[in-house]
Amino acid sequence: MEHNQNNWLQTSWILNEGAQRIFVELKFTLRDCNSLPGGLGTCKETFNVYFFESDEEEDRDVRESQYSKIDTIAADESFTELDLGDRVMKLNTELRDVGPLTRKGFYLAFQDVGACIALVSVRVFYKKCPSAVRNLVLFPDTVTGADSSQLLEVSGTCVNNSMAEDLPRMHCSAEGEWLVPIGKCVCQAGYEEVNDTCQVCQPGFFRSSVQSLSCSKCPPYSYTKLEASTACQCEDDYYRMETDPPNMACTKPPSAPRNAISNVNETSVLLEWVGPEETGGRKDVRYNILCRKMAADWSRYEECGGQVRYLPQRQGLRNSSVMVADLLAHTNYTFLVEAVNGVSHLTSLPRPSVSLNVTTNQAAPSPVSVVRKGKTAKNSIAVSWLEPDRPNGIILEYEIKYFEKDQETSYTIIKSRETQVLADGLKPSCVYVFQIRARTSAGYGGFSRRFEFQTSPFLVAASSDQSQAPIVAVSVIVGVILLALVTGFLLSGRRCGYSKAKQDPDEEKMHFHNGHIKFSGIRTYIDPHTYEDPNQAVHEFAKEIDVSCITIERVIGAGEFGEVCSGPLRLPGKREVLVAIKTLKAGYTDKQRREFLGEASIMGQFDHPNIIHLEGVVTKSKPVMIITEYMENGSLDTFLKKNDGQFTVIQLVGMLRGIASGMRYLSDMGYVHRDLAARNILVNSNLVCKVSDFGLSRVLEDDPEAAYTTRGGKIPIRWTAPEAISFRKFTSASDVWSYGIVMWEVMSYGERPYWEMSNQDVIKAVEDSYRLPGPMDCPAALYQLMMDCWQDERSSRPRFEEIVCLLDKLIRNPCSLKALINSSKRSSNLLVEYGAIESNIYRSVGEWLEAIKMGRYTELFMESGYTTLEVVTQMTSDDLRRVGVTLAGHQKKIISSIQETRVQMMNAPVQI
Ligand code: AMP
Repeated sequence: MEHNQNNWLQTSWILNEGAQRIFVELKFTLRDCNSLPGGLGTCKETFNVYFFESDEEEDRDVRESQYSKIDTIAADESFTELDLGDRVMKLNTELRDVGPLTRKGFYLAFQDVGACIALVSVRVFYKKCPSAVRNLVLFPDTVTGADSSQLLEVSGTCVNNSMAEDLPRMHCSAEGEWLVPIGKCVCQAGYEEVNDTCQVCQPGFFRSSVQSLSCSKCPPYSYTKLEASTACQCEDDYYRMETDPPNMACTKPPSAPRNAISNVNETSVLLEWVGPEETGGRKDVRYNILCRKMAADWSRYEECGGQVRYLPQRQGLRNSSVMVADLLAHTNYTFLVEAVNGVSHLTSLPRPSVSLNVTTNQAAPSPVSVVRKGKTAKNSIAVSWLEPDRPNGIILEYEIKYFEKDQETSYTIIKSRETQVLADGLKPSCVYVFQIRARTSAGYGGFSRRFEFQTSPFLVAASSDQSQAPIVAVSVIVGVILLALVTGFLLSGRRCGYSKAKQDPDEEKMHFHNGHIKFSGIRTYIDPHTYEDPNQAVHEFAKEIDVSCITIERVIGAGEFGEVCSGPLRLPGKREVLVAIKTLKAGYTDKQRREFLGEASIMGQFDHPNIIHLEGVVTKSKPVMIITEYMENGSLDTFLKKNDGQFTVIQLVGMLRGIASGMRYLSDMGYVHRDLAARNILVNSNLVCKVSDFGLSRVLEDDPEAAYTTRGGKIPIRWTAPEAISFRKFTSASDVWSYGIVMWEVMSYGERPYWEMSNQDVIKAVEDSYRLPGPMDCPAALYQLMMDCWQDERSSRPRFEEIVCLLDKLIRNPCSLKALINSSKRSSNLLVEYGAIESNIYRSVGEWLEAIKMGRYTELFMESGYTTLEVVTQMTSDDLRRVGVTLAGHQKKIISSIQETRVQMMNAPVQI
């Protein structure tokens, strides 16, 4: 009731604990001034709140003037006397904040200037964002900022075994809430996130990078015995390429390529093989070719060097074939085909490989490429040239052809052993075209390109009429002398189709008008019968070997004249080789000895990779022996029966090609075999087939298949052409008939021709135009060729040259072998007629996969060597998985299409 009230209440010193903004919550009651009787003049309805900051507790009361005012507080609700009577409590709550605070603590003070007031409670507090873990980041307890709208940026720390690229941050609001996180932590490799913590990967599990989701089990062929592994270690003999992802199984190098075969064509060879059985779990199998050739002195093998060409390349081959060209003629080569994959370089083990021994054929020299003009006069041009790049043998002579430009039908040929000639008798000021070719024992090479050279102009001397008189006189005298010479020459009888040039005994000159001439460089076979003394024939064609160089190790067969054995041959200065040794049994007659050695006299004349090679003979000691190269797989018929169904069509055709090539050589030499049959073909470890069994006049005495004909001869009826059976007309064309039967034997894996039919029935059936049916799974193109070989009319049969050429084409284009003869044609009884074979099934693996909407796998198929439909039709579900077709649905789709394709290929129509 009194004026000028000024009552203070002060709190004790309050530590602000680092808070910059504090909140003060007041609860109070206040009496309504109107309800006070007569006190209106002095009564107040507000009070004031103050604060005073200090770093330590004051030891005396704070003076009024030191306080700063926070606010004047008014009541929302005040009470009256009535309320008191009703015992109603009208409590007001007011909240005020103060900041920024800069000292350690503060005092609060309340000033009452005349209100009837009861201060019930004072709560003093500050706000903070509580410690929290978000995204593996730990944020500490954080007191909010001084300003009511301030967001405090707080840096967090990564929880154990986690990490972050940049420091993660979050914002603490004035209200004590965490807002706006920036960045996060992730578990280190070797740990995985579980409930806001990073847990260690157990042994057997790994986590390779912060990107992977969680710990994973070690992939196949790898392990880890440690906790917190970031990768698994490969088991022994398994490897991982640097670029292999850590979740990929460990892999190993592939096994060796299989079933390698070679097809020699003069100085080129086509090498083919089948991919390794074991790819090592990888799809990146590639092949490298290593080439070594026999040194010129035959003492050792040496690297082939850079002049050999490889198509498409030597290393990193994706497909299982390569063409090697520009080899030396007539040379032994060893090719190693290595299989490698992405981990081969990680092992020190030798690369698995398959080796092939190849002997190149004789080949004509390559064309002369450099021709130069030398001294030129008005009637002559001197021409010189360089030896061809690849002579492929010793050059015996050159042939120089020249003619006046645009007058090609009238040309002159000079033969020379030198690399230069003088072309004379030419017209002055005239352009002549020159072409040169070289000849070796293998025949002529191709002509060089055309070189054009011009003679010098004819110079007319300026002269007066008188001065011509002596020239005329001299000309007349010279003319008379020449006439005399020519007449003498003609009278001496040297008149022939060509005139020999005068100068060089090494040079020969011929003129041609609209004519052709054919030179053949191939030697012809000489019948040992033509020698009076058979011993002379043997020693002409076969080398005598000292018996001490031979060790007989095993008996491998029985020949007509004695046992056939095998063992090493060690010739001085040469590598040891395994040879077959045919012996002449004791107690032989002279005739038998002659016949036995006759085979060597014949064999010794041949030099071809598909003809069994004669090493030499032993005649100076007993037993008499014939030594030939050793053929590991023995005779072809037995070999095929033993490996029924084991080869690809390409391999079988490769064998047939070899036999045809050997027969081409024999027919070129003028030798008729008369007993060509699978039993007389030998096979070496590289599946190279060689023609053998060169009996002499024996005429098939030693062949158990040979039967006496009505005319007395002994003939292997089933293999022999009708004209040879009927009137002993044995020619290369009858050998072609036999070759057709060999084809049939090969394609049916050694089946006996005409099965158990009797010889008489066979002769009758063939006469009645019946022929063998196509073997099972035989490509139509091959059966067509057999049928062509069995034409009645022998001149209509293909020649061996044509057979080799056709087989080469089939090998180069394996798709042409995919059409098989249809089953009705196969199983019908003996059929006879010919027909073109067509097929309308897929042309490539890619086309087939596209057609069944599985085109995405084309590349995988190619990489894994499934490049032809023929190979694909052999695939199983396991193969598909290996190729990389892992989805069961896709496997099912592809397998059922393979089965369908197989049926279609079996039934490819044959038009008769
Ligand atoms: P032949 O008297 O020539 O018919 O030989 C009889 C058998 O000896 C043949 O069928 C072959 O099994 C074997 N034979 C002959 N020559 C060789 C050889 N060069 N390499 C391996 N085996 C051979």
